[in-house]
Amino acid sequence: MNQWNDRKPLPGDLHVGKPNIGDRSRFLERINRILDVRWLTNNGQYVVELEDRIATLHGVKHCVAVCNGTVGLGIAIRALGIEGEAILPSYTFIATAHALMWQGIKPVFCDIDERTHNLNPEKVESRITSATTAIVGVHLWGRPCVPDELTDIAATHGLQLLFDAAHAFGCTYRGRTIGSFGDVEVLSFHATKIFNTAEGGAILTNRDDLAEKMRLIRDFGFAGYDNVVHLGINGKMNEFCAALGLTNLESLDRFIDANRRNYNCYREELEHLPGLKLIDFNEEEKNNWQYIVVEIDEKKFGINRDDMIRILNQNHVLARKYFWPGCHRMEPYRTLYPESGKHLPVTECVAARVLVLPTGSETSELNIMKICSIIRDSIP
Ligand SMILES: *Cc1c(COP(=O)(O)O)cnc(C)c1O
Repeated sequence: MNQWNDRKPLPGDLHVGKPNIGDRSRFLERINRILDVRWLTNNGQYVVELEDRIATLHGVKHCVAVCNGTVGLGIAIRALGIEGEAILPSYTFIATAHALMWQGIKPVFCDIDERTHNLNPEKVESRITSATTAIVGVHLWGRPCVPDELTDIAATHGLQLLFDAAHAFGCTYRGRTIGSFGDVEVLSFHATKIFNTAEGGAILTNRDDLAEKMRLIRDFGFAGYDNVVHLGINGKMNEFCAALGLTNLESLDRFIDANRRNYNCYREELEHLPGLKLIDFNEEEKNNWQYIVVEIDEKKFGINRDDMIRILNQNHVLARKYFWPGCHRMEPYRTLYPESGKHLPVTECVAARVLVLPTGSETSELNIMKICSIIRDSIP
């Protein structure tokens, strides 16, 4: 069982997660400079510059760039000293759970709110045991994962609070940039995210002690030549990825504008269809509009989500199920914790209804109108 559709993209297909790419000549200038100075990795000029830019953008003291978001989560988990059990949603990308399990921490899956798709804080409290050391919130689709409530719960129970902010680059909560909540937040810069470095990510924190530890862990624990002072891993970002990042950052506003225009176009085209709901975003906050998430209610819509995806695929639109069937129904969790589903009725229901449609700077309004007419024509 995997979360990929069987059909691989063909030329001409419209698919979810087409990378946003900034100015090509700016990128190539930077690549030439990397080759000229022959500094390819290990805290090169572009990595340091990208870290500065991202820290400033998020209003945090420290940004530690890493080779990908999953390794970033692992480094943050290690630096926070998380052990025993950690509470997280099952309705997330599998990396959130794997990053914990990889370090021998038991992921305790908690149910979500049907409306926000994010952790339900009351249910988080009910899943705390004497072995719980942390809460891992995920700002799904870029919508805030109840930062205030989770901050209170973590403080009350003496838990670490980590956020997987892989979806939330450029989003705010109560005017404050997501990335600055909890003890640590982790971003992903994977090719499919709003802002990408091909592969990459960053760990954000305001805590000096954690930042220092995470920089050590990222580089094998080296505190200078020949001096290893901590267990570490190779989590470094290289200069080529940072060069793409700096270039893409220069076009971030354009990517977000395109996404927003696309979202509004989908909204206009789909708004009035019974049984189909396009998720919304708080217009008073900054959003990145990166995920066009539709929920299909089979009874009212006439066909189910899976049939809808099949029809879209046949018409060269690679819409995707997202986070179906939930982490708890994938290995190794399915075998290790076969009872998890009992606690996750909302997760199971949402995972069966959600469908994600193409957007990004490469998706035109004309294409969106075509996609929406396929959807309308599929109603029996
Ligand atoms: C993309 C993603 C990750 C993993 O990030 P990588 O950079 O691909 O390792 C983790 N969590 C969520 C929610 C994601 O969407």
